[in-house]
Amino acid sequence: MPKRALLINPWIYDFKAFDFWTKPLGLLYLASILRNQAWQTDYLDCLDRYHPVLLEQVEKLPKVDQYGRGKFYAEVIPKPQIYHNYPRRYKRYGIPEFVFKQIVDALPKPDWIFVTSIMTYWYPGVFDTIKILKQYFPKTPVILGGIYATLCPEHARQFSKADYVIEGMAEQKLSTLIPELKPFEFTALPYPAFDLYHKLDYACILTSRGCCFNCIYCAVPNLTPGFAYRTVDSVINEIKHYQDMGIKNIAFYDDALLANPNFSSILDQLIEQKIKINFHSPNGLHPRFFTQELSDKMFRAGFKTIYLSLETASPCLHEQIDNKVSTQEFLQTVKFLKRSGFNSNQIHAYLLIGLAQIVPDEIRKSIDFVHDQGIISHLAEYSPIPNTRGFEELKFDKNTDPLLHNNAIFPGLDEPTRQQVIEIKAYHSRLRHTF
Ligand code: SF4
Repeated sequence: MPKRALLINPWIYDFKAFDFWTKPLGLLYLASILRNQAWQTDYLDCLDRYHPVLLEQVEKLPKVDQYGRGKFYAEVIPKPQIYHNYPRRYKRYGIPEFVFKQIVDALPKPDWIFVTSIMTYWYPGVFDTIKILKQYFPKTPVILGGIYATLCPEHARQFSKADYVIEGMAEQKLSTLIPELKPFEFTALPYPAFDLYHKLDYACILTSRGCCFNCIYCAVPNLTPGFAYRTVDSVINEIKHYQDMGIKNIAFYDDALLANPNFSSILDQLIEQKIKINFHSPNGLHPRFFTQELSDKMFRAGFKTIYLSLETASPCLHEQIDNKVSTQEFLQTVKFLKRSGFNSNQIHAYLLIGLAQIVPDEIRKSIDFVHDQGIISHLAEYSPIPNTRGFEELKFDKNTDPLLHNNAIFPGLDEPTRQQVIEIKAYHSRLRHTF
């Protein structure tokens, strides 16, 4: 009798959430691994805008843009007490609770339930998901994995009610619990099981795992130490597989896409094989690796949006916090991209706000600097992440409630600075409207 797994991507509970090419890639890899071992799998992504049961119940769904980005279905829910001073509405993003229950009620009893997790401060959505699953399948063990489980394992073990908490990459760790699931190296993973969705606006792909930098505010060096990358053929075949599925947009999930020594050859193949897909780079690209040739190839291969990691225009600050980009490298890259044919609306730069080292004056200067280049700036709000220098500098530790990591409340700032940064956000928004 084949084993049966239920895989769940839980709700997001937060003040804001947006589908910015957001899919639970780790969970989809796991689904694929299980299927390859002849397991039967049921899959439920609570954030799925097109789940048939949701479509039966809801008349109007949020719109998506031409590249597949859009709002999630959402409902206002009570705020946790810790946020009582924060004036925004708190929401459950994803299918309504009654829809979730209706779907789960119709599922056969699984042998194992796998729940993933992402941001540490989204844990209330994870806990509610597990609570309901336990009502329907009280005897089935629940394994909680993903980023929250990895970064806050003690908290997850103490409060989540999951039977097991897996830290790190599930495909390498699960064999300790389920010996028949042999560990997989990243480069040997099967394609993530995107076919489990009824309808897709986009797929996501990883050509490499890890990052060669070590920024004080980032979890990647801890979450995925080292750097591994796939062969050109395996990436191209996966992209062709999505093309055959009718997918029009693919987002690269790599943390350091341009550091992949195979990336240039991947572009060559996309051009040579005339693959017609819109490509996107939601995780910032590093200007340090750009050349005119690479930029030209990205344009010809079908990149439609380019997101650059700038974080701040201050060279001194870069020395303190990340050492990953110079002003010169950034300016040069913008020139390359424009020469290749990318227009101003396609080139975006991330600027980090909410990190104490980046004072409001510097943020404003950085916004103006990016605006002067005729490209779009995006303010990325800092969230303190366990096991990073930024987290320790705030004197946060494993006993700090992860709700306090929420970037919406600017946990890294004192009250006067927080007010200044909120004003700068309004300034940025006005500037964006004049673009
Ligand atoms: S470059 Fe990006 S992914 Fe790499 S450590 Fe810095 S923030 Fe993280």
